[in-house]
Amino acid sequence: MTSTTRTLKVEGLRKLVEELRARGFTVIAPTVRDGAIVNAPIESIDQLPRGVGDQQDAAHYRLTERADGAYFGYAAGAQSMKPVLFPAEELLWRGKRDAAGAFTVQPASNEGGPYALLGVRGCDLKAIHIHDAVLTSRGFSDAHYAARRAGALLISVTCGSPAGTCFCASVGTGPRPSEGYDLSLTEVIKGSSHTFVVAVGTERGAEIMDALGASTASEAEMAAADDIAKDAALNMGRELNTDGLKYLMYANAESSHWDDVASRCLSCTNCTLVCPTCFCTSVEDVSDLTGQEASRHRVWDSCFSEDFSYIHGGSVRESPRSRYRQWITHKLASWEDQFGMTGCVGCGRCITWCPVGIDITAEAAALRGTPSKARK
Ligand code: SF4
Ligand code: SF4
Repeated sequence: MTSTTRTLKVEGLRKLVEELRARGFTVIAPTVRDGAIVNAPIESIDQLPRGVGDQQDAAHYRLTERADGAYFGYAAGAQSMKPVLFPAEELLWRGKRDAAGAFTVQPASNEGGPYALLGVRGCDLKAIHIHDAVLTSRGFSDAHYAARRAGALLISVTCGSPAGTCFCASVGTGPRPSEGYDLSLTEVIKGSSHTFVVAVGTERGAEIMDALGASTASEAEMAAADDIAKDAALNMGRELNTDGLKYLMYANAESSHWDDVASRCLSCTNCTLVCPTCFCTSVEDVSDLTGQEASRHRVWDSCFSEDFSYIHGGSVRESPRSRYRQWITHKLASWEDQFGMTGCVGCGRCITWCPVGIDITAEAAALRGTPSKARK
């Protein structure tokens, strides 16, 4: 594989999107919608959020303007790429009764791919690989996820401007993606020079760079990209002490701190819906009034609802205390025993989008008896 680091200028980025579309990819990338960064299909880099930054803190999200014209100058958006590969609602099958009364079932087809996912942050890239492990690498494979994931091209981006809720450096997923991508861009802006330093991760990525005629990065360009990643790592808004974290969580199963969290938690489910690694679903059946047609849908579910743990006779986790404890313990401890990896990639979305500002890093620090570190 040609593993040399390449560079693209802005026109090269434009051609990259054109090349991907010419190869039949649906290009999904960050866009601005309703005052937030939202991933959506794009046809041109003109749809990227150029000159846009963001401000994030507990229960706080605002877009800002940047003077430098950066295309990727913001941190994790409102959602990861999860809704692309694992939609919040999807049809599993539809059935119809014919005139003779026979009921025929038609499985849903997965349309829209193959996808080129552009602008994937290190945290969200890791989350995709966690979903690969959880949804396709065990006894049974999730056919719907696998179909969308098949052939997907992953183009990640170094976070140069981490938000106030980011802590990917604590969990080793960013700010610069280290593996698992086809191509990985670092945007370097110096005066009038606007460059994307491109790390090549696969043969497929190398072949696309060759097709674009991308030049080899100079030592100075690579050093500038390194500096951006180093500075970003030093400017994380939050920090999570992962030393013995699994054991800390297990040792605190009966901590009185869960009552404190429960006094604030609204059980709104926001934290699970924005989390790039949460994958719990429920199934809903819908039929028409005549009984001639029916369909089955898979929808995201959340361990914060009382119904989620309902088994015969009642819910296992009846209180917000038990539900928050379950969620954070799964993310930071039992996920590791279950899947051999952490369940939290440090994107900070659960902190930003929690309406009452409950902070996974602060709650873990409180269990440890140490102050949390939030950038002021
Ligand atoms: S638990 Fe929170 S910080 Fe961790 S991956 Fe999920 S949303 Fe991101
Ligand atoms: S922790 Fe926050 S986002 Fe999660 S359910 Fe409770 S109030 Fe909602």
